[in-house]
Amino acid sequence: MKNEAKVVAITGSSRGIGRAIAVTFAKAGYDLILNGRQTVDPELITEIETIGRQCVFVQGDVTDETTATQIVATAFERFERLDVVVNNAGITKDKLLMAMSAADFKAVVDVNLMGTFNVTQVAFTKMLRQRSGCIINLASVIGQHGNAGQANYAASKAGIIGLTKSVAKEGAKRHVRCNAIAPGMIATDMTAVLKPAMTDAILAQIPLNRFGEPEEVASAALFLAENQYVTGQVLTVDGGMTI
Ligand code: NDP
Repeated sequence: MKNEAKVVAITGSSRGIGRAIAVTFAKAGYDLILNGRQTVDPELITEIETIGRQCVFVQGDVTDETTATQIVATAFERFERLDVVVNNAGITKDKLLMAMSAADFKAVVDVNLMGTFNVTQVAFTKMLRQRSGCIINLASVIGQHGNAGQANYAASKAGIIGLTKSVAKEGAKRHVRCNAIAPGMIATDMTAVLKPAMTDAILAQIPLNRFGEPEEVASAALFLAENQYVTGQVLTVDGGMTI
C-alpha cells in the first residue's frame, strides 16, 4: 500500500549536511531513504525512529549506477512513492591546478557531478511517471565564483547548476521541480580539515562572521521541497559571503 507520508531519498546522509537534512525532513514528517559508502551510524537510525519516522539505509557509492538504481528502487519497494531526492553526496580533493592530477580532477567530478546525474536520471524518470516530484542538488558558491585550489570542485558544482536548470525545464510540464542550494562555508568534516590560518582568512570574508550550521542548509532544502512554485533556482546559504 502506498505510504501515507511523503518520502525523501538523501545521498551522503550518514554525516554532515546530509545527516542534518535527514533529521530535518524526519521532523517534518517524511520517511527516508539514507545513503553513504560506509555503514550508517546507528544513533542516526535511532534518532529518526524516535521522531516517529521510518528509514532505510542503502549502502553504496553514487558513482556506481547500481547504487542510484537501488536508492530509487528501495523507495518504491518499501514505500511505493518518492517525493523528494536530495543529491548531497560530495567530496573535495583540493590542489592548485598546476599540481592537480587528472585522477583527482576526475574523482571529484565523478562523485559530485556524475553521482548527481546517476541518481537524478533514475529518480526523474519515475517522477515524470508519477507526475510529481522534487530534486534538490547540493551545489556550492565555489561553483558560481570559483576558488584557487578547487578547480575540480568548482567545475563539478558549476556542472550541477547547469544540470539543475536543464532538469527544471524538462520536468516542469509534469510538475517535477529541480533546484540547487549553494552553501558557503558550513561546519562539517569537509571544512574541519582547513588550517586555522585559512579558517581565519575565510571568516574575514563572511559578513555574518561564522561558518553556517548543517541545519541551516537543511532548512533551505525543506523550503525547496515544500514550496511548489520554485524551480530552476540556486538558493545561496552563505552568511553573506558572496554579497
Ligand atoms: P561531509 O564530508 O561532511 O559528508 C559527505 C557525505 O557524503 C558523507 O555522508 C559521505 O559518507 C557521503 N559520500 C561521499 N562520497 C560519497 C559517494 N561517492 N557515494 C555516496 N556517499 C558519499 O560533507 P558535507 O556535509 O560538508 O557536504 C555535503 C554536500 O554539501 C557536498 O555535496 C558538499 O560539496 C556540499 N557543500 C558543502 C559545504 C561545506 O562548507 N561543508 C559548502 C558547499 C557545499 P561516506 O563517507 O560514508 O560515503
